[in-house]
Amino acid sequence: MKYKSLCSGSGGNAALLWTAGAAVLIDFAPGCQRDCCEALRALKMVSGSLDTVLVTHAHGDHINRNSLKVLQAEGFKVRCHPSVAREIKERHGCAHAGIIYPFEGEIPVGELKVRLVQVAHSPRCYTTAFIITGAPGQKASVFTDLHSFTEEQAALAADSGLLCLEANHDPELLKRYGHPGSEFHLPNIETARFLHAICALSRRQPQAVVLGHLSEDCNAPDLPEKEIRSFFKKNSTPVKFKTHVSPRYEHGAVLTIK
Ligand SMILES: [Zn+2]
Repeated sequence: MKYKSLCSGSGGNAALLWTAGAAVLIDFAPGCQRDCCEALRALKMVSGSLDTVLVTHAHGDHINRNSLKVLQAEGFKVRCHPSVAREIKERHGCAHAGIIYPFEGEIPVGELKVRLVQVAHSPRCYTTAFIITGAPGQKASVFTDLHSFTEEQAALAADSGLLCLEANHDPELLKRYGHPGSEFHLPNIETARFLHAICALSRRQPQAVVLGHLSEDCNAPDLPEKEIRSFFKKNSTPVKFKTHVSPRYEHGAVLTIK
């Protein structure tokens, strides 16, 4: 199972997860229509079977009119919770409703199984995380936007080889610079707590942890990892995984989960 972030943050989010026989995009809002076309062309070189976008929620930095138009032209299916489907139509228009296929619980996408899990994010915006499993032992959990987590969510994400978690802001920087809407996103210390809770419920720690949706003004690329290391140390838990920060506008490295 491989994973690559294309962009991450309030300016746009998109990531690709793929195996030899299946591929999914997780959110798709890389910018203008030309950016969307270029991104899809490059992604189809990586995986010819790619035709599905899983959408976490209807905020414009995850799906929007531009990306829907290009996805429709390229024959993609948008898969999301029924409430997310309704909000996409409300926010971005009904013109592309024909490519949205809502689902609840779990669906297959090729050899992958995709399960959605509701998370707490912004009011009036139904938001989900995705738990994706492939061949036995291959599991990825992707939590892009949330303001808090539950033990149940930690249990669902346990034993993931790949964990993608939001690490939005540092509370001190937030106090200094302020940022409207930050209360709907996970501060670094909560990311550390969430990750620790997942590890505590796992037989082994993840191989890779990807931190995303970092605030431009109220975070810095090294801060979430420092917070994680200090929280694990305080709890006498060794850190056996590698952390990666998804770049805001550039592609991240290809991560391979065995
Ligand atoms: Zn959002």
